[in-house]
Amino acid sequence: MLDKLDLNTKAQELREALGEDANSPVDIFSLVNQIEGLTLVFYPLGENISGMCIRDNEIRLIAINSTTSYGRQRYSLAHELYHLYYDDKSGFNVCSAKFDPKSENEKCADQFASYFLAPYKSLRSAIRKSAGNCQLSMQHIIALEQYYGMSHMAMLWRLVSEGYLSSEELYSCSCGVISAARKLGYDDKLYRPTPVDLQRRTYGHYLKQVEELRQKELVSSGKIDELLLDAFREDIAFGLDENGLGGAAID
Ligand SMILES: [Zn+2]
Repeated sequence: MLDKLDLNTKAQELREALGEDANSPVDIFSLVNQIEGLTLVFYPLGENISGMCIRDNEIRLIAINSTTSYGRQRYSLAHELYHLYYDDKSGFNVCSAKFDPKSENEKCADQFASYFLAPYKSLRSAIRKSAGNCQLSMQHIIALEQYYGMSHMAMLWRLVSEGYLSSEELYSCSCGVISAARKLGYDDKLYRPTPVDLQRRTYGHYLKQVEELRQKELVSSGKIDELLLDAFREDIAFGLDENGLGGAAID
């Protein structure tokens, strides 16, 4: 049995530990950069896997399936944060891309992810503000998922679980979201996967360690390149400039 109150509290605690308030939308990819010792890998993990988490005394690693939509990747990362911080079952999780059915532990991680991105009280007040007591329309649902940066299916499941939508409405609302969002004036980034040339990438602790080796001249430059290529970072190894702007800042 899911203890939703406890999972919402855990999500709030982690938001606060990472410097966020209790209600606002979060830039989850920036947030996890602050987590000491964590390596984040984006990789095409196949259609059945949304993400993975490995944690022990030596390694803290989260992998996210970069072929899923941006919104789903945000949700998957929040899901993996549950395993990283609160799951004491094992040091290794491979997580299914399906929302249902799942083990109790996976359901807890999903519920935590949903609360982490859209805290219970925050979502309730956003719904009251936009729809009042009216039935939620596709327009309301898209506005909510765009605001919280949550995948369409994750938002639909959340709204069903809180009684705002019926299961029948979930199925009728699950198609046509990209064109509906565009017509309503939203960017469709939330619903699209990472571009193919960026689907393999490593960020975080691993790269800091490689940079430390380089600065201390502990290994050869060839070995540094090899370590970077192992992490799909040929852009760093070969000094590639993706924008063709000569490395100039454009902000
Ligand atoms: Zn999981």
